[in-house]
Amino acid sequence: AKAKGRNRIAIFDQPMLQKVRHRLRLEVELRQAVEHGDFELYYQPIVNLRTQALVGFETLIRWQKDGQMLPPDEFIPVAEETGLIFEISRWVLHAACRQLRDWQQRYPKMMAAGLTLSVNLSGSHFSLPTLVTDIEQALNSYHLWGQFLKLEITESALMKHLESARELLLCIKSMGIRVAIDDFGTGYSSLSYLRSLPLDCIKIDRSFISTMDSSREDLEVVHTILLLAQNLRLDCVAEGVETTNQLQQLRSLRCPHGQGYLFSPPLSANQAELYLQKHLVT
Ligand code: C2E
Ligand code: CA
Ligand code: CA
Ligand code: CA
Repeated sequence: AKAKGRNRIAIFDQPMLQKVRHRLRLEVELRQAVEHGDFELYYQPIVNLRTQALVGFETLIRWQKDGQMLPPDEFIPVAEETGLIFEISRWVLHAACRQLRDWQQRYPKMMAAGLTLSVNLSGSHFSLPTLVTDIEQALNSYHLWGQFLKLEITESALMKHLESARELLLCIKSMGIRVAIDDFGTGYSSLSYLRSLPLDCIKIDRSFISTMDSSREDLEVVHTILLLAQNLRLDCVAEGVETTNQLQQLRSLRCPHGQGYLFSPPLSANQAELYLQKHLVT
């Protein structure tokens, strides 16, 4: 805005100023939340699309702020910019491992059934030299085997750190941990790099699933990704399955796994435990 009258310096206009204030307040509050541990993990079931059997959960962070549950999209970007993401990431790893251990001890069938817990890795944590020791520490703290843990890393984060990715993934895999490439189809990956990386699973981005029954092209993309996964012997999870129509189509394309509101929304730890009890009875 133009400087007027006695306000000689007007660098920001009103809406801009409000944005900056909001951003600063959020940063201060996020810092406090990290100190107080005001976070909670939610758990979304992942199922076998053919049998609808439970195969695991994906952990999704929530910020417990003023009696509300704030979704990650509203604070993870600020956490990334301020470096608070590293502490949050470590908290998530520990909380997930603690929960997994607790469930495994109380429900031995969970291990017998090979149920896994998936944790989202932030791109910046992926580039941090302490990543491997952070993971080891979390596993060791709860005497956990790596094979029940899965890490999800987005396609774009992998692309950004392509040089170091292969070695890092090998290191992670030597602990028995499985690795999934998240939001697949949204980045600009080439087939050659997919082949060169030691991955276990592809998660097809929700944007393709949500439009596959209206867009011929998106249905083709999903089909192609599934053929690719089969070819590379990778597991596949369709994200954001919401309708029975989508389920039918995914089944006919032989997509092995899925998650989405059709099966269950993300659940609190208590709700997830009830879900677990219900779906572990055979
Ligand atoms: P994501 O990893 O792709 O997680 C899936 C998101 O889709 C979740 O949103 C989930 O609630 C939502 N979702 C699941 N099923 C459906 C459905 O059927 N329909 C629709 N419309 N949405 C569905 P959420 O929990 O808000 O998480 C958003 C993103 O935040 C995640 O995307 C992930 O990238 C990031 N995130 C979540 N938890 C963590 C974490 O612990 N650490 C890091 N670094 N990032 C996280
Ligand atoms: Ca994910
Ligand atoms: Ca995803
Ligand atoms: Ca996403």
